[in-house]
Amino acid sequence: MSSLAEEQFEGGDSFPKDFGYGSYDDENSGPQVQNGKTRILLMGHRRSGKTSIQKVVFQKMSPNETLFLEGTNKITKEDIANSSFLQFQLWDCPGQMDFQDFDADLIFAKCGAVIFVIDAQDDYMEALNTLNLVVTKAYNVNKNIRFEVFVHKVDGLYEDNKMETQRDIHQRSNDDLLDAGYDHITLSFHLTSIYDHSIFEALSKVIQKLIPQLPTLENLLNILINNSGIEKAFLFDVVSKIYIATDSSPVDMQSYELCCDMVDLVIDISGIYGLEESPDVPAFDSRSSSLIKLNSGTILYLREVDRYLALVCILREDNFEKQGVINYNFLCFREALQQVFEIRNKSNGAGEPGSDTESIEKLGVVNNHAG
Ligand code: GDP
Repeated sequence: MSSLAEEQFEGGDSFPKDFGYGSYDDENSGPQVQNGKTRILLMGHRRSGKTSIQKVVFQKMSPNETLFLEGTNKITKEDIANSSFLQFQLWDCPGQMDFQDFDADLIFAKCGAVIFVIDAQDDYMEALNTLNLVVTKAYNVNKNIRFEVFVHKVDGLYEDNKMETQRDIHQRSNDDLLDAGYDHITLSFHLTSIYDHSIFEALSKVIQKLIPQLPTLENLLNILINNSGIEKAFLFDVVSKIYIATDSSPVDMQSYELCCDMVDLVIDISGIYGLEESPDVPAFDSRSSSLIKLNSGTILYLREVDRYLALVCILREDNFEKQGVINYNFLCFREALQQVFEIRNKSNGAGEPGSDTESIEKLGVVNNHAG
Protein backbone atom coordinates (compact mmCIF):
# COMPACT_ATOMS: atom_id res chain seq x y z
CA MET A 1 0.00 0.00 0.00
CA SER A 2 2.60 2.51 0.99
CA SER A 3 6.34 2.81 1.03
CA LEU A 4 8.13 4.11 4.05
CA ALA A 5 10.59 6.55 2.57
CA GLU A 6 11.76 8.58 5.48
CA GLU A 7 11.38 8.61 9.19
CA GLN A 8 13.02 10.88 11.68
CA PHE A 9 13.21 10.94 15.43
CA GLU A 10 14.88 13.30 17.78
CA GLY A 11 15.36 11.81 21.26
CA GLY A 12 14.24 13.32 24.56
CA ASP A 13 11.79 12.82 27.40
CA SER A 14 8.11 12.49 26.98
CA PHE A 15 6.00 9.35 26.52
CA PRO A 16 5.84 7.16 29.59
CA LYS A 17 7.73 3.91 29.14
CA ASP A 18 4.68 1.69 29.41
CA PHE A 19 2.58 4.09 27.28
CA GLY A 20 -0.06 4.09 29.97
CA TYR A 21 -1.86 6.88 31.77
CA GLY A 22 -0.08 6.70 35.13
CA SER A 23 -1.60 5.76 38.44
CA TYR A 24 -5.01 4.20 38.86
CA ASP A 25 -7.55 4.79 41.58
CA ASP A 26 -8.26 2.12 44.11
CA GLU A 27 -10.56 -0.40 42.45
CA ASN A 28 -12.35 -1.12 45.70
CA SER A 29 -13.19 2.42 46.65
CA GLY A 30 -16.83 2.18 45.54
CA PRO A 31 -18.83 4.16 43.00
CA GLN A 32 -18.28 7.85 43.50
CA VAL A 33 -16.95 10.79 41.55
CA GLN A 34 -13.21 11.11 41.99
CA ASN A 35 -10.98 14.12 41.28
CA GLY A 36 -13.84 15.82 39.40
CA LYS A 37 -13.37 13.53 36.37
CA THR A 38 -16.31 12.97 34.06
CA ARG A 39 -17.71 9.50 34.37
CA ILE A 40 -18.55 7.34 31.35
CA LEU A 41 -20.48 4.13 31.96
CA LEU A 42 -20.08 1.07 29.76
CA MET A 43 -23.29 -0.93 30.08
CA GLY A 44 -24.96 -3.79 28.25
CA HIS A 45 -25.71 -7.48 28.59
CA ARG A 46 -23.16 -10.09 29.64
CA ARG A 47 -20.78 -11.07 26.81
CA SER A 48 -21.83 -8.09 24.69
CA GLY A 49 -18.18 -7.00 24.59
CA LYS A 50 -17.85 -4.23 27.22
CA THR A 51 -14.65 -5.43 28.87
CA SER A 52 -13.11 -6.20 25.49
CA ILE A 53 -13.73 -2.63 24.34
CA GLN A 54 -12.10 -1.20 27.44
CA LYS A 55 -9.11 -3.55 27.27
CA VAL A 56 -8.47 -3.15 23.54
CA VAL A 57 -8.71 0.65 23.48
CA PHE A 58 -7.16 1.64 26.79
CA GLN A 59 -4.92 -1.27 27.71
CA LYS A 60 -3.63 -2.29 24.28
CA MET A 61 -4.94 -5.84 24.55
CA SER A 62 -5.00 -7.57 21.18
CA PRO A 63 -8.58 -8.36 20.02
CA ASN A 64 -7.88 -12.10 19.90
CA GLU A 65 -6.89 -12.15 23.57
CA THR A 66 -10.36 -10.94 24.55
CA LEU A 67 -11.68 -14.44 23.78
CA PHE A 68 -10.33 -15.48 27.19
CA LEU A 69 -11.79 -12.63 29.24
CA GLU A 70 -13.92 -13.58 32.21
CA GLY A 71 -17.30 -11.95 32.87
CA THR A 72 -17.43 -8.85 35.07
CA ASN A 73 -19.25 -9.26 38.40
CA LYS A 74 -18.62 -5.83 39.89
CA ILE A 75 -18.12 -2.33 38.58
CA THR A 76 -14.50 -1.85 37.52
CA LYS A 77 -13.06 1.59 36.96
CA GLU A 78 -10.42 2.77 34.56
CA ASP A 79 -8.91 6.20 35.00
CA ILE A 80 -8.28 7.94 31.70
CA ALA A 81 -6.37 11.05 32.59
CA ASN A 82 -3.68 12.66 30.56
CA SER A 83 -2.11 16.03 31.07
CA SER A 84 -4.51 17.81 28.78
CA PHE A 85 -8.10 17.27 27.72
CA LEU A 86 -8.90 13.64 28.40
CA GLN A 87 -9.95 13.46 32.02
CA PHE A 88 -12.53 10.83 32.74
CA GLN A 89 -13.33 7.56 34.41
CA LEU A 90 -14.64 4.63 32.42
CA TRP A 91 -16.81 2.32 34.48
CA ASP A 92 -17.27 -1.20 33.16
CA CYS A 93 -20.59 -2.31 34.65
CA PRO A 94 -21.56 -5.98 35.07
CA GLY A 95 -23.99 -7.49 32.55
CA GLN A 96 -27.60 -7.33 33.68
CA MET A 97 -27.29 -4.72 36.40
CA ASP A 98 -30.00 -5.13 38.94
CA PHE A 99 -30.95 -1.64 40.08
CA GLN A 100 -32.06 -3.02 43.40
CA ASP A 101 -28.41 -3.80 44.12
CA PHE A 102 -26.97 -0.69 42.50
CA ASP A 103 -27.96 2.79 43.51
CA ALA A 104 -29.07 4.53 40.29
CA ASP A 105 -28.79 8.00 41.87
CA LEU A 106 -25.19 7.40 42.83
CA ILE A 107 -24.22 5.90 39.48
CA PHE A 108 -25.89 8.33 37.11
CA ALA A 109 -25.71 11.59 39.05
CA LYS A 110 -22.25 12.74 37.90
CA CYS A 111 -22.20 10.72 34.71
CA GLY A 112 -21.37 12.39 31.36
CA ALA A 113 -22.34 9.56 29.03
CA VAL A 114 -23.74 6.06 29.05
CA ILE A 115 -22.41 3.74 26.36
CA PHE A 116 -24.81 0.84 25.93
CA VAL A 117 -23.25 -2.09 24.08
CA ILE A 118 -25.51 -4.42 22.06
CA ASP A 119 -24.19 -7.65 20.55
CA ALA A 120 -25.34 -7.39 16.93
CA GLN A 121 -24.54 -11.06 16.30
CA ASP A 122 -27.02 -12.19 18.95
CA ASP A 123 -30.76 -11.81 19.43
CA TYR A 124 -31.00 -8.24 20.73
CA MET A 125 -34.65 -7.99 21.80
CA GLU A 126 -33.88 -8.52 25.49
CA ALA A 127 -30.98 -6.05 25.24
CA LEU A 128 -33.40 -3.42 23.88
CA ASN A 129 -35.60 -3.84 26.98
CA THR A 130 -32.57 -3.32 29.20
CA LEU A 131 -31.52 -0.31 27.12
CA ASN A 132 -34.94 1.22 27.66
CA LEU A 133 -34.73 0.59 31.41
CA VAL A 134 -31.23 2.05 31.68
CA VAL A 135 -32.03 5.14 29.60
CA THR A 136 -35.21 6.00 31.46
CA LYS A 137 -33.61 5.40 34.90
CA ALA A 138 -30.56 7.46 33.99
CA TYR A 139 -32.61 10.28 32.46
CA ASN A 140 -34.75 10.58 35.57
CA VAL A 141 -31.60 11.02 37.67
CA ASN A 142 -29.63 13.25 35.29
CA LYS A 143 -31.13 14.99 32.25
CA ASN A 144 -27.72 15.93 30.82
CA ILE A 145 -26.44 12.40 30.21
CA ARG A 146 -25.62 11.53 26.61
CA PHE A 147 -26.75 8.12 25.45
CA GLU A 148 -24.53 6.30 22.97
CA VAL A 149 -25.53 2.89 21.63
CA PHE A 150 -22.74 0.71 20.24
CA VAL A 151 -24.15 -1.82 17.79
CA HIS A 152 -21.19 -4.07 18.45
CA LYS A 153 -19.41 -7.10 16.88
CA VAL A 154 -20.49 -6.01 13.40
CA ASP A 155 -17.39 -7.70 11.98
CA GLY A 156 -19.56 -10.84 11.91
CA LEU A 157 -22.28 -9.25 9.73
CA TYR A 158 -22.47 -8.84 5.95
CA GLU A 159 -22.03 -5.27 4.74
CA ASP A 160 -25.74 -4.81 3.84
CA ASN A 161 -26.81 -6.32 7.11
CA LYS A 162 -24.86 -3.80 9.20
CA MET A 163 -26.94 -0.77 8.24
CA GLU A 164 -30.14 -2.80 8.37
CA THR A 165 -29.35 -3.97 11.93
CA GLN A 166 -28.53 -0.43 13.06
CA ARG A 167 -31.73 0.88 11.48
CA ASP A 168 -33.81 -1.81 13.18
CA ILE A 169 -32.22 -1.19 16.61
CA HIS A 170 -32.62 2.57 16.16
CA GLN A 171 -36.28 2.23 15.22
CA ARG A 172 -37.19 -0.19 18.00
CA SER A 173 -35.36 1.65 20.77
CA ASN A 174 -36.90 4.99 19.77
CA ASP A 175 -40.37 3.40 19.59
CA ASP A 176 -39.87 1.93 23.08
CA LEU A 177 -38.91 5.35 24.44
CA LEU A 178 -41.92 6.98 22.76
CA ASP A 179 -44.22 4.33 24.24
CA ALA A 180 -42.77 5.07 27.66
CA GLY A 181 -43.49 8.78 27.16
CA TYR A 182 -39.89 9.92 26.62
CA ASP A 183 -40.04 11.57 23.20
CA HIS A 184 -37.25 14.06 23.83
CA ILE A 185 -34.36 11.70 24.62
CA THR A 186 -31.78 11.42 21.85
CA LEU A 187 -29.85 8.21 21.36
CA SER A 188 -26.76 8.14 19.12
CA PHE A 189 -25.81 4.95 17.30
CA HIS A 190 -22.41 3.63 16.20
CA LEU A 191 -21.47 0.44 14.35
CA THR A 192 -18.45 -0.97 16.17
CA SER A 193 -16.00 -3.85 16.29
CA ILE A 194 -12.76 -4.41 18.19
CA TYR A 195 -11.30 -6.04 15.08
CA ASP A 196 -11.00 -2.78 13.15
CA HIS A 197 -10.73 0.97 13.81
CA SER A 198 -14.48 1.48 14.22
CA ILE A 199 -14.32 1.16 18.01
CA PHE A 200 -11.64 3.88 18.22
CA GLU A 201 -13.66 6.13 15.90
CA ALA A 202 -16.86 5.65 17.90
CA LEU A 203 -15.15 6.30 21.23
CA SER A 204 -13.49 9.39 19.73
CA LYS A 205 -16.91 10.79 18.88
CA VAL A 206 -18.32 9.98 22.31
CA ILE A 207 -15.41 11.63 24.10
CA GLN A 208 -15.36 14.70 21.86
CA LYS A 209 -18.92 15.47 22.92
CA LEU A 210 -17.67 15.66 26.52
CA ILE A 211 -14.87 18.15 25.81
CA PRO A 212 -16.24 21.66 26.38
CA GLN A 213 -13.35 23.23 24.45
CA LEU A 214 -14.02 21.19 21.28
CA PRO A 215 -15.13 24.19 19.12
CA THR A 216 -11.94 26.03 20.11
CA LEU A 217 -9.79 23.04 19.22
CA GLU A 218 -11.53 22.70 15.85
CA ASN A 219 -11.02 26.38 15.17
CA LEU A 220 -7.33 26.14 15.96
CA LEU A 221 -6.97 23.13 13.68
CA ASN A 222 -8.85 24.91 10.89
CA ILE A 223 -6.54 27.90 11.12
CA LEU A 224 -3.52 25.62 11.14
CA ILE A 225 -4.50 23.57 8.08
CA ASN A 226 -5.74 26.53 6.05
CA ASN A 227 -2.46 28.35 6.47
CA SER A 228 -0.18 25.38 6.05
CA GLY A 229 -1.54 23.60 2.96
CA ILE A 230 -2.56 20.61 5.08
CA GLU A 231 -5.50 18.50 3.95
CA LYS A 232 -6.50 16.85 7.20
CA ALA A 233 -5.25 17.06 10.78
CA PHE A 234 -6.08 14.94 13.81
CA LEU A 235 -5.19 15.71 17.39
CA PHE A 236 -4.53 12.27 18.85
CA ASP A 237 -4.45 10.98 22.37
CA VAL A 238 -1.50 8.75 21.64
CA VAL A 239 -2.07 6.16 24.36
CA SER A 240 -5.58 5.26 23.22
CA LYS A 241 -5.46 6.41 19.54
CA ILE A 242 -8.65 8.35 20.22
CA TYR A 243 -8.70 11.63 18.32
CA ILE A 244 -9.92 14.38 20.56
CA ALA A 245 -10.38 16.86 17.73
CA THR A 246 -9.99 17.27 13.99
CA ASP A 247 -10.54 20.14 11.55
CA SER A 248 -14.04 20.65 10.22
CA SER A 249 -13.59 18.81 6.90
CA PRO A 250 -15.32 15.40 6.91
CA VAL A 251 -13.44 12.43 8.37
CA ASP A 252 -12.98 9.47 6.08
CA MET A 253 -12.19 6.18 7.77
CA GLN A 254 -9.20 5.47 5.54
CA SER A 255 -7.41 8.69 6.55
CA TYR A 256 -8.13 8.02 10.20
CA GLU A 257 -6.80 4.46 9.88
CA LEU A 258 -3.63 5.70 8.20
CA CYS A 259 -3.03 8.16 11.01
CA CYS A 260 -3.72 5.48 13.66
CA ASP A 261 -1.21 3.19 11.95
CA MET A 262 1.33 5.98 12.00
CA VAL A 263 0.86 6.52 15.74
CA ASP A 264 1.35 2.76 16.28
CA LEU A 265 4.44 2.74 14.12
CA VAL A 266 5.99 5.73 15.88
CA ILE A 267 5.37 4.19 19.30
CA ASP A 268 6.84 0.84 18.22
CA ILE A 269 9.92 2.31 16.54
CA SER A 270 10.62 4.75 19.35
CA GLY A 271 10.19 1.96 21.90
CA ILE A 272 12.89 -0.02 20.09
CA TYR A 273 15.33 2.66 18.93
CA GLY A 274 14.40 5.83 20.76
CA LEU A 275 15.32 4.88 24.31
CA GLU A 276 18.33 6.59 25.81
CA GLU A 277 20.90 4.56 27.73
CA SER A 278 19.01 5.03 30.96
CA PRO A 279 15.72 3.10 30.91
CA ASP A 280 14.12 5.92 32.92
CA VAL A 281 14.41 8.40 30.06
CA PRO A 282 11.46 7.94 27.72
CA ALA A 283 11.88 7.93 23.98
CA PHE A 284 10.04 11.09 22.96
CA ASP A 285 9.97 14.74 23.81
CA SER A 286 8.24 17.83 22.54
CA ARG A 287 10.74 18.04 19.65
CA SER A 288 9.86 14.56 18.42
CA SER A 289 8.46 14.23 14.95
CA SER A 290 7.99 11.64 12.29
CA LEU A 291 7.50 11.90 8.56
CA ILE A 292 6.20 9.22 6.21
CA LYS A 293 6.06 9.70 2.43
CA LEU A 294 3.52 7.48 0.72
CA ASN A 295 4.02 6.47 -2.90
CA SER A 296 0.73 8.22 -3.74
CA GLY A 297 2.45 11.63 -3.32
CA THR A 298 0.92 12.09 0.11
CA ILE A 299 2.79 12.86 3.30
CA LEU A 300 1.91 11.89 6.86
CA TYR A 301 3.51 14.22 9.36
CA LEU A 302 3.39 13.64 13.13
CA ARG A 303 4.45 16.18 15.73
CA GLU A 304 4.19 15.59 19.42
CA VAL A 305 2.22 18.29 21.22
CA ASP A 306 2.76 17.23 24.80
CA ARG A 307 3.23 14.10 26.84
CA TYR A 308 0.10 12.41 25.55
CA LEU A 309 -1.06 14.39 22.54
CA ALA A 310 0.25 14.28 19.00
CA LEU A 311 -0.83 16.12 15.89
CA VAL A 312 -0.97 13.94 12.77
CA CYS A 313 -1.41 15.72 9.43
CA ILE A 314 -2.07 14.48 5.91
CA LEU A 315 -0.83 16.71 3.08
CA ARG A 316 0.33 16.67 -0.53
CA GLU A 317 4.06 16.32 -1.08
CA ASP A 318 4.17 19.61 -3.05
CA ASN A 319 2.84 21.50 -0.06
CA PHE A 320 5.55 20.10 2.16
CA GLU A 321 8.27 22.00 0.34
CA LYS A 322 7.92 24.83 2.82
CA GLN A 323 8.36 22.62 5.85
CA GLY A 324 9.69 25.57 7.83
CA VAL A 325 6.38 27.38 7.51
CA ILE A 326 4.47 24.29 8.60
CA ASN A 327 6.78 23.85 11.58
CA TYR A 328 6.42 27.49 12.54
CA ASN A 329 2.63 27.28 12.31
CA PHE A 330 2.71 24.11 14.37
CA LEU A 331 4.61 25.91 17.14
CA CYS A 332 1.99 28.70 17.12
CA PHE A 333 -0.72 26.04 17.25
CA ARG A 334 0.93 24.31 20.17
CA GLU A 335 1.31 27.55 22.07
CA ALA A 336 -2.37 28.39 21.54
CA LEU A 337 -3.29 24.91 22.70
CA GLN A 338 -1.24 25.34 25.85
CA GLN A 339 -3.12 28.53 26.59
CA VAL A 340 -6.40 26.67 26.23
CA PHE A 341 -5.09 23.99 28.64
CA GLU A 342 -4.14 26.68 31.13
CA ILE A 343 -7.55 28.32 30.95
CA ARG A 344 -9.18 24.95 31.36
CA ASN A 345 -7.04 24.12 34.37
CA LYS A 346 -7.77 27.47 35.96
CA SER A 347 -11.50 27.10 35.45
CA ASN A 348 -11.34 23.42 36.47
CA GLY A 349 -12.77 22.07 33.22
CA ALA A 350 -15.62 24.56 32.91
CA GLY A 351 -14.02 26.53 30.05
CA GLU A 352 -14.14 30.29 29.52
CA PRO A 353 -15.42 31.02 26.05
CA GLY A 354 -14.07 34.56 25.88
CA SER A 355 -10.57 33.53 26.82
CA ASP A 356 -10.52 30.63 24.35
CA THR A 357 -11.22 33.13 21.58
CA GLU A 358 -8.35 35.23 22.81
CA SER A 359 -5.92 32.36 22.31
CA ILE A 360 -7.15 31.98 18.72
CA GLU A 361 -6.54 35.64 18.05
CA LYS A 362 -3.00 35.26 19.32
CA LEU A 363 -2.35 32.43 16.87
CA GLY A 364 0.22 34.19 14.70
CA VAL A 365 0.36 31.59 11.92
CA VAL A 366 2.09 32.30 8.60
CA ASN A 367 0.38 31.47 5.33
CA ASN A 368 2.07 28.64 3.45
CA HIS A 369 0.60 29.73 0.10
CA ALA A 370 1.79 33.31 0.51
CA GLY A 371 5.26 32.05 1.47
P1 GDP B 1 -18.67 -8.39 28.59
O1 GDP B 1 -19.26 -9.48 29.44
O2 GDP B 1 -19.73 -7.48 28.03
O3 GDP B 1 -17.59 -7.62 29.27
O4 GDP B 1 -18.06 -9.10 27.29
P2 GDP B 1 -16.55 -9.50 26.99
O5 GDP B 1 -15.73 -8.28 26.77
O6 GDP B 1 -16.08 -10.46 28.02
O7 GDP B 1 -16.67 -10.19 25.56
C1 GDP B 1 -17.43 -11.35 25.33
C2 GDP B 1 -16.95 -12.02 24.07
O8 GDP B 1 -17.20 -11.21 22.93
C3 GDP B 1 -15.44 -12.31 24.06
O9 GDP B 1 -15.26 -13.63 23.62
C4 GDP B 1 -14.88 -11.35 23.04
O10 GDP B 1 -13.76 -11.86 22.34
C5 GDP B 1 -16.07 -11.15 22.11
N1 GDP B 1 -16.04 -9.83 21.43
C6 GDP B 1 -15.92 -8.62 22.00
N2 GDP B 1 -15.92 -7.64 21.07
C7 GDP B 1 -16.06 -8.26 19.87
C8 GDP B 1 -16.15 -7.80 18.51
O11 GDP B 1 -16.07 -6.61 18.19
N3 GDP B 1 -16.30 -8.75 17.54
C9 GDP B 1 -16.38 -10.08 17.83
N4 GDP B 1 -16.54 -10.92 16.80
N5 GDP B 1 -16.31 -10.56 19.09
C10 GDP B 1 -16.14 -9.66 20.09
